[in-house]
Amino acid sequence: MTTLKTLVNIESGSKDIEGLNQISKTVAEQLKSAGAEVSVIQPKDIMKLDGAPDQTGPVVKAVLKGKGQRNIMLLAHNDTVYQKGQPFRLEGNKAYGLGILDDKQGVAAVIHVLEMLQQLKYQDYGTLTVLINSDEEISSPGSRQLIMDTAKNQDVVLSFETGGLEASAQAKKLAAQAQQIYRNELNLPMKVETAAWGGGTDAAFAGVTSKAAIIEGMGMSGDGLHSDKAEYILTDSIVPRLYLAARLIVESSKK
Ligand SMILES: [Zn+2]
Repeated sequence: MTTLKTLVNIESGSKDIEGLNQISKTVAEQLKSAGAEVSVIQPKDIMKLDGAPDQTGPVVKAVLKGKGQRNIMLLAHNDTVYQKGQPFRLEGNKAYGLGILDDKQGVAAVIHVLEMLQQLKYQDYGTLTVLINSDEEISSPGSRQLIMDTAKNQDVVLSFETGGLEASAQAKKLAAQAQQIYRNELNLPMKVETAAWGGGTDAAFAGVTSKAAIIEGMGMSGDGLHSDKAEYILTDSIVPRLYLAARLIVESSKK
């Protein structure tokens, strides 16, 4: 929750380079303390998409080397649709804030999953690679190539956007496993969509170059996506989603 509050209160609209640099620095530091080798990459060749700025915010890349064989990638993004004006606040089981659902919860989840694995001294994966980009809401003109290049050699890609799980065709088995973990270990229902998603998301870009099993919607639940005042996450979804992410990394490391 402290991580979320910190991240939400650093305003980081897609075109707010100063805010994006600041949040990327904070995220990089946290990933480093979670044991990862971290680099902050300033995108150079920005794709000339409609409305794309000349400069986009940085991508935080974090890599952990384990003792296993399987390569797992975790995706989330720092940037928000609205630029400013919605500080963090808690009301009952709802945590409100600018970009809290899309996608600061995703960034916080990735940080905490890495911390959990570190505390458990879990290292059975081959590599665990994190990419946190700063231009998702403007179609990733600066980070798309890096996402595609990095996805190429992955076995599993988990994207921490909000929502029900959506799985690519190759990921059906993994999605079923996720559903089982939710039902059997947490006693919670979970819907899994196996239809192809709309495209244009970072998970979809990863799928262009990769044969990996890709799951989108690993993030927490909430509502008010892309809203300027009513975006929130349900705090009850934090622990189950972190648990699920950690368990899927463990399951994915096995084969
Ligand atoms: Zn998003």
